[in-house]
Amino acid sequence: MKKHNFNAGPSILPREVIEKTASAVSDFNGSGLSILEISHRAKDFQPVVDEAVALFKELLNIPEGYSVLFLGGGASLQFCMVPFNLLEKKAAYLNTGTWASKALKEAKGFGEVVEVASSKADNYCYIPKGYSVPADADYFHITTNNTIFGTEILTDIDSPVPLVADMSSDIFSRPIDVSKYAMIYGGAQKNLAPAGLTFVIVKNDSLGKVSRYIPTMLNYQTHIDNGSMFNTPPVLPIYSAMETLRWIKANGGVEGMEKRNVAKADLLYAEIDRNPLFVGTAAKEDRSRMNVCFVMKPEYASLEADFQKFATERGMVGIKGHRSVGGFRASIYNAMEIESVQALVDSMKEFAAIHSK
Ligand SMILES: *Cc1c(COP(=O)(O)O)cnc(C)c1O
Repeated sequence: MKKHNFNAGPSILPREVIEKTASAVSDFNGSGLSILEISHRAKDFQPVVDEAVALFKELLNIPEGYSVLFLGGGASLQFCMVPFNLLEKKAAYLNTGTWASKALKEAKGFGEVVEVASSKADNYCYIPKGYSVPADADYFHITTNNTIFGTEILTDIDSPVPLVADMSSDIFSRPIDVSKYAMIYGGAQKNLAPAGLTFVIVKNDSLGKVSRYIPTMLNYQTHIDNGSMFNTPPVLPIYSAMETLRWIKANGGVEGMEKRNVAKADLLYAEIDRNPLFVGTAAKEDRSRMNVCFVMKPEYASLEADFQKFATERGMVGIKGHRSVGGFRASIYNAMEIESVQALVDSMKEFAAIHSK
């Protein structure tokens, strides 16, 4: 039976990316060696990094004056690297979920942190609006897609101070205006590559403004100066990222991804809104195109485990909701085909036909 992979992260990758990665693991470029057993400085590997960086710049239309870095440590290490490198006195954070609040907590160790708004009291079911960002903040940090709660900031907001965004779970899912950001970062394991790789897009002139000592490995400048090769970078995930970026390019670029993603999200949300058993948890205007959260309506709450089983029997994988929301979460990242979303919708319809009162 075909498996429909709705895992939240690590998550689905295009089948051809997995196959090409497997082939590079067994024999890289016909060299007779695995990509796992060559130097990251080998002359065969440098073109992989170069192409991945070039595709980042091309696909996201990154302006001059920005660097693309491939690091380790996950998005979670960025929660401290960002303030380490950018926070001199004060930073502003928008608290839209678990990851946003973890980022905010780390920044507090480096200076004054202003939480400009929070939707925590409503279990992060919406994106706060109408807040104001202090004009004297060193930067303003947002999380564009809230992977756990299924809300997303779909427009590039105007910020009076340098804007920093965690885009772990929606990078390359739609066009963005990089010129509006001082920094964009994320763990690659949601929409780009296997776990182990962190991407950072940084505006070069936003660095060098803090007075503290920054440890070498935590200093973005180190990685800019060394082309992400100061130490051994995550070689295999960089290779897979390059293949994913080739796949995105061949499938219409970020505009093509946005079209796919809108179609998938519309299909699933329409069923959630139509189906008498289910209800979405995120405010409609803030619904994520990447992570679709829904629960049983109160009168059908006792059927939750039954639906989980019913859908699993039909090939759905990874639809159990995060414990902080409950119910179900279908992550429908770039690589997911609309046929898989249709399969989930069909199970919801079939289940409702059996159980709706
Ligand atoms: C998954 C996730 C993280 C954490 O990423 P790690 O790479 O595991 O540290 C941070 N932010 C967002 C938005 C995420 O989805």
